[in-house]
Amino acid sequence: VGIFNGVDTLPPDALFDIKKRYTQDTRAHKVDLGIGAYRDNNGQPWVLPSVRRAEEKVHADKGYNHEYLPITGLPALTGGAARVIFGPEYAEDRTVSVQSISGTGALHIAAKFLAKFLPERTIYVSDPTWANHKAIFQLQGLNVASYPYWDAASKSLLLDGFLDSIDLAEEGSVFLLHACAHNPTGLDPTPEQWDAVLERLAARNHLALFDSAYQGFATGDLDRDALAVRRGVRRMASVSPVIVCQSFAKNVGMYGERVGCFHIVLPDQSSEVNSRVHGAVSSQLAKLIRSEVSNPPAYGAKIVGAILADKSLTAAWHADMVTMSSRIHAMRAALREKLVALGTPGTWDHIVEQCGMFSFTGLSPEMVRRLETQHAVYLVSSGRASIAGLNEGNVDHVARAIDEVVR
Ligand code: PLP
Repeated sequence: VGIFNGVDTLPPDALFDIKKRYTQDTRAHKVDLGIGAYRDNNGQPWVLPSVRRAEEKVHADKGYNHEYLPITGLPALTGGAARVIFGPEYAEDRTVSVQSISGTGALHIAAKFLAKFLPERTIYVSDPTWANHKAIFQLQGLNVASYPYWDAASKSLLLDGFLDSIDLAEEGSVFLLHACAHNPTGLDPTPEQWDAVLERLAARNHLALFDSAYQGFATGDLDRDALAVRRGVRRMASVSPVIVCQSFAKNVGMYGERVGCFHIVLPDQSSEVNSRVHGAVSSQLAKLIRSEVSNPPAYGAKIVGAILADKSLTAAWHADMVTMSSRIHAMRAALREKLVALGTPGTWDHIVEQCGMFSFTGLSPEMVRRLETQHAVYLVSSGRASIAGLNEGNVDHVARAIDEVVR
């Protein structure tokens, strides 16, 4: 009997627990600024028009069925996804791309792969970072450390500390970099700062691991948001492989369909070596995926694959991305403007200066608690607010609530 009697009870996941409390809250004016999911101006989830068109196209296909996908995923997705993220830097002969269970699954594949082939290497993550990063790598027995990233007092990038960590880390360490729209700070390095980071990574033979979960949300432009990855691939070509974990949850708005890809770009060696290593890495990834999920989910992959394979659908998707990012941008401006108009103590320019889905507001855990209990405004205790949860109908309430808790 009781062989599991000694199992410890863990606290619920902080983010999903916010969602639960929000759902149970009966106050009509409640506002969810917790999870990073896009909402339209009525506060509703948005099925992208490009996705609707792709769904119609996929369903109209006479060969439509629910067969298994290949172990490494749908080629239309993996190839299209590589072109979206790598653009002109896509070196097909040096890139191994496999489908993953969204971005989390791609990170999980990265963790499994690193644990198998580079188990001694430490993974450096930004301080702060997405709550799940540490857990994903630690669960595979890897050592996780952090590099300075965010200065709370000045709300700016700690570039010197970041570069120092790169210099001081043991040669050949792994640096996890947010490709764009850093979660939770909304603060990305400038192109020049990226160059400095990449120079130092190259000098120490470190491995760059890009997490690309928000391509399109930083600037509204999918190509511009791939700048760091593309420069990284170019700079590291003579140094080390580059890993990219790519999610389509947010930028295609197919959160629950779990569409993502894991890519390894091999360094530029002789074509004979490239081809051998490409084959070897592909075979290892296939074995790993086979034992974990057998083969990846098909539905979302077909939709995103259809979008990426058709010029007109791709253009429609890019336009949808602009719709989402512009609305978020407008809500940042509205919130800042209202706080300034209310004379709320503090400066609020950072709300418009930060990019992506989130604002790292600088509100304390105590203020966040009061926002929830007194005003039914839900955000993460770190002060991270998902700006996508704001709309013309609730931004005034949120500004007044922030004003009240700050005073
Ligand atoms: N990476 C970052 C930085 C994220 O914020 C998220 C989701 O919030 C993910 C990866 C993974 O998301 P998903 O597994 O839904 O693609």
